[in-house]
Amino acid sequence: MRSTLLAVVAVLSSCTMMQRSQTEQLVAASLISDAQETELGFQVHEELKKENTKFLNNPDVGFYVGGLVNKLTPQAEQDRGGVKWQYFVIDDPKTVNAFATPGGRIYVYTGLLLAAENEAEVVGVLGHELGHVVARHSARQLVAAKGLETVSAMALGKDPADVALLAAALVGKGTIMAYGRDMELEADRYGAKYANATGYAPQGLASFFQKLQAQGEAPAFLTFLSTHPANSERIEKINAQIAANGYQSTELGAASLKAIQARIPKS
Ligand code: ZN
Repeated sequence: MRSTLLAVVAVLSSCTMMQRSQTEQLVAASLISDAQETELGFQVHEELKKENTKFLNNPDVGFYVGGLVNKLTPQAEQDRGGVKWQYFVIDDPKTVNAFATPGGRIYVYTGLLLAAENEAEVVGVLGHELGHVVARHSARQLVAAKGLETVSAMALGKDPADVALLAAALVGKGTIMAYGRDMELEADRYGAKYANATGYAPQGLASFFQKLQAQGEAPAFLTFLSTHPANSERIEKINAQIAANGYQSTELGAASLKAIQARIPKS
């Protein structure tokens, strides 16, 4: 693996950010197979259950979130095929957050659904999470945290305990490992792109960040802010992407979100 490592480092140091991201995705794909990602996602879900994560058992809200995810996945499919997308709603109205795990599991907190102004904001955030999966950020983050050689040795090994160890590395104290700035920006690009492609105003992701930023100190928003740094740079970049690509979609879906918010437990 050492020569591969040197080759990868050489490539990474000599290319643009876009090429670099593509190279990292290829490396991540060759390290951790789709089947291993699925297994990792399953293990992470088991970890979440062990940590007493409370999943919302409300068919209306589940159907609503599922409907939005299903609108977005055909777009994601074009960038990364073969993902078995699943979604889960976490019953926690005080936490404004969402996350994705390897293999295509998307988790959204009821707090985020309650905090959003309209459906376009929720779609932007969901698209952002799909983007993390499409770009294989978990595998890339594992490499960043544990080193290329360690992850490749564990992923190549036949010991099932290794997958559990990798899963545990992704979940610590009930929160998913935070991604770096570049990965967040990359996921934002997917979020705006997918929202626009499904007919929703791609500004939703930016307006959601803006709102979180304006709320500043509110405790409910801290979790989201700590794992998804909302800053003016992100908002600017999303707006620049919309302008550069001439995104035209305008659907906000304010009324349909309001109807679902009324059905979400507030405590
Ligand atoms: Zn993110």
